[in-house]
Amino acid sequence: MLDTAPLTRAYIYLDRLTHNLRLLQELAGGRPLWPAIKANAYGHGMVFVARHLVALGYDTLCVAHVSEVEVLAEAGVDARFLLFSATLPEHSEAVVRLGCEPAVCTLEFAQALSRDAQRLGRTVAVHLMVDTGMGRIGIRPEDAPAFLERCAALPGMWVRGLMTHFPRADEADKTQSVQQIQDFRHCIEATARFGIEVRHMANSAAIFDLPDSHCDAVRPGISIYGLLPSPEIINPRVGELKPVLEWKTPISFLKEVPAGTGLSYGHTFHTARPSLIATVPVGYGDGLSRRLSNSFEMLVRGIRCPQVGRVTMDQSLIDVTALRGRVALGDEVVIIGRQGDAEVTADELAAKLGTISYEIVTAISERVPRVAIGGQA
Ligand SMILES: *Cc1c(COP(=O)(O)O)cnc(C)c1O
Repeated sequence: MLDTAPLTRAYIYLDRLTHNLRLLQELAGGRPLWPAIKANAYGHGMVFVARHLVALGYDTLCVAHVSEVEVLAEAGVDARFLLFSATLPEHSEAVVRLGCEPAVCTLEFAQALSRDAQRLGRTVAVHLMVDTGMGRIGIRPEDAPAFLERCAALPGMWVRGLMTHFPRADEADKTQSVQQIQDFRHCIEATARFGIEVRHMANSAAIFDLPDSHCDAVRPGISIYGLLPSPEIINPRVGELKPVLEWKTPISFLKEVPAGTGLSYGHTFHTARPSLIATVPVGYGDGLSRRLSNSFEMLVRGIRCPQVGRVTMDQSLIDVTALRGRVALGDEVVIIGRQGDAEVTADELAAKLGTISYEIVTAISERVPRVAIGGQA
């Protein structure tokens, strides 16, 4: 076998994943935890994260689209799969065949599911998505009883769950979220006669800060990966989370350049002194945003070294002058993670880009191999 594996890799520490899940489980009491592994497990590698979760005993996993369930099923992951996004009727056959439990918020989709379930001799369980304030998908809470009446008349499908989602649970001010919990409670009461089995609303932020929202199950995403939903989480236990992902690359080229040398496309950086410049094989094709150019640092030998010049598609440059005589081709460079006493977090990069850690890790592209460290998976 030829070894062609890219050397820019995301290392996934499965024991930290386990640690984070234990913490969340403690906060959620005995309630089932339904981890969200959508979008390639927030960039961490969906299949092996799923395998690890199943090995730990988690039997319900959440994704966005039916396409993700197909990948998991083909990989032999045996679990119950919830679909968070709105699905269009054209995917109802796939939903039924793959046995997923979709969020439902249109009658069109409910009818398509019923039709396909009957045709295939199956029964499909669904979760009615109620919009208590997210403003993304879902029916209005006051419409839930009538919608459930219509669903009750559809053979081959039944509404197993009632769900809603928080837009602002990660903010210090919980006014909106507390209102949503109350509205969801009323909706639960108003729909009590329909035999719904599970009610759920809590994302990571709500698991930490809104115990009244835990209902019958919780749906953590970002926190299982050891990242904070936001800096405004009140519960101090959020500090116990451990980041699961580290993103590393080796030095692929080193050169001495004189003062005044222009570097990379557009010469947006000129050396102010004779400099030792390292090249690393990571760029925006790997999910490292070009907008970070000249404004962040990578770790080499435990020291923060400034990235210089434009980040290009496949390669970037760092100024390692401070390490002259102590740095060599192949040396480890950390983009996200720890090295010695130094650390670069996904939150730090997110802040520079005006985004959130969710987007930083999810953007790490397919070209970057995910390497699982530890764990049973
Ligand atoms: C992604 C998602 C979650 C998980 O949210 P986190 O903030 O990552 O914990 C929960 N519920 C729904 C509907 C989602 O789309």
